Amino acid sequence: MKEKILSVLQKYYGYKSFRRGQEEIITSILQGEDVLAIMPTGGGKSICYQIPALCMDGLTIVISPLISLMKDQVDALTAMGIEASYINSSLSSSDYNQILENIINDKYKIIYVAPERLESAEFLNIIQNKDISQIAIDEAHCISQWGHDFRVSYKKIPNFIKNLKTRPTVTTFTATASTEVRKDILNMLGLIEPKIFITGFDRENLYINIVKSSAKNKYLLEYVENHKTENGIIYAATRKEVEKIYEGLLKRDINVIKYHAGMSNEDRKINQDKFINDEVNIIIATNAFGMGIDKPDIRWVMHYNMPQSIENYYQEIGRAGRDGEKSECVLLFTPGDVHTQKYLIEMGTESVTRKSIQYNKLQQMVDLVYSNSCYRKSILEYFGEVMLGQCDNCSNCLNEGEIIDKTLDAQKVISCIYRMKRNYGLTMIVDVLRGSKNKKVLEVGFNKLSTYGIMKDYSNEELKNFINTLVSHGFLEIKENPGARGSFPTISMNNQSLKVLKGDIKVEFKEVKVAKES
Ligand code: ADP
Repeated sequence: MKEKILSVLQKYYGYKSFRRGQEEIITSILQGEDVLAIMPTGGGKSICYQIPALCMDGLTIVISPLISLMKDQVDALTAMGIEASYINSSLSSSDYNQILENIINDKYKIIYVAPERLESAEFLNIIQNKDISQIAIDEAHCISQWGHDFRVSYKKIPNFIKNLKTRPTVTTFTATASTEVRKDILNMLGLIEPKIFITGFDRENLYINIVKSSAKNKYLLEYVENHKTENGIIYAATRKEVEKIYEGLLKRDINVIKYHAGMSNEDRKINQDKFINDEVNIIIATNAFGMGIDKPDIRWVMHYNMPQSIENYYQEIGRAGRDGEKSECVLLFTPGDVHTQKYLIEMGTESVTRKSIQYNKLQQMVDLVYSNSCYRKSILEYFGEVMLGQCDNCSNCLNEGEIIDKTLDAQKVISCIYRMKRNYGLTMIVDVLRGSKNKKVLEVGFNKLSTYGIMKDYSNEELKNFINTLVSHGFLEIKENPGARGSFPTISMNNQSLKVLKGDIKVEFKEVKVAKES
């Protein structure tokens, strides 16, 4: 079987070898096993269901929510000599009828269908009389409320499968890896003894550089000046921020374009094409930019603001270095980024449950930023993939700062929180530890605590950094307290804090230098 699928890969796609995971997934599908494959965007999911489609008798139905990408996929398949088509709302009724006719006549090996179309009685009638080898569900996380892109239409899929005369192999693909989403995919889509693959998340050629700096602008200008001949994307959290960076770089005669949802469709398309066709090599964008962009030679991605989740972050930096060449991903972080993201969550139209999931994901992103260990390892672990050792290609691994025993300082922080009795926010805790004469501190009498002012030697920013790092490494916990004026996070103790306090475990961090605006 190995040789056969390799020859299909070479014959149709012209690739020499499989990427990690692809061969195992394809083999599993060809053995008739249901599959849940968790792979990053751009990881090469399509081949995993397309090659089985080509090797099996009968038709493969691919369910995908991305109408705009269906045509590209089908065009690519057709160009390779594979009979394929798609059914979605963009078709005229005569085209639709022609495609149904072709299905009846077994013209296709692969057909892409939007989930909304699965209910059509006409379509179902035709499909019921056909030999269906595989139902491949792309972006399978859309079935789950816990995912980042829940779609009601996905709920129609289980019924559709049930109505088929014989149950084909059901294969599911997603880049979202949280356990809740995974459970929903397995249960709601009714996978039978599925094989689960978590694979391909590691992008070794990407240098992950996270910079905690209040000097973002300076960093950005210097960076762009030094990298302006290479293709790069600058991501910012809001349209306003995109505009600001855009204007700033134009003023310095740097050839840049912008992309955000506030621009007309036409302007966006023009700019996207300019970037793809190498007319301009730097684009400044919100996260509206990038879906379906498969430009191989993007050498750097800069995040001017921290994204809302590790999924978003990893997807966005994943656009760099698709050709496998070394590329850099710089994330510029200030605590203000957390407020911006919270504001965006608050302003969103999502339900209360969804918002609390978003807050959770945001905190995991914040924890990543404050982590002092290998960033790549933390990210891969987040996606469920195991990495041994450290990567030596992220700013934490390459940070030459010394490892310092911070147990004593950690004990000071924890014992102060213990003495404050109720849970307070970061600012209050920092004020007490630094001996602030702030009215709020004095009112509750925290100036009488034995821990009042015991960390004066830390600056405000350093101490906040340190406490956030303790949270990131699980020595303390953050609780979100949603209220009328947004969510107010407080810091509380957990089992680990008690162990630190008792001296049962040591707290050791690499020293981090915080750059200041000059
Ligand atoms: P996604 O996982 O986002 O669906 P795609 O299937 O579109 O990703 O694959 C992303 C890119 O990687 C495509 O250009 C695809 O042709 C390429 N690709 C996939 N598998 C391989 C392979 N084994 N060798 C080289 N390139 C590959």
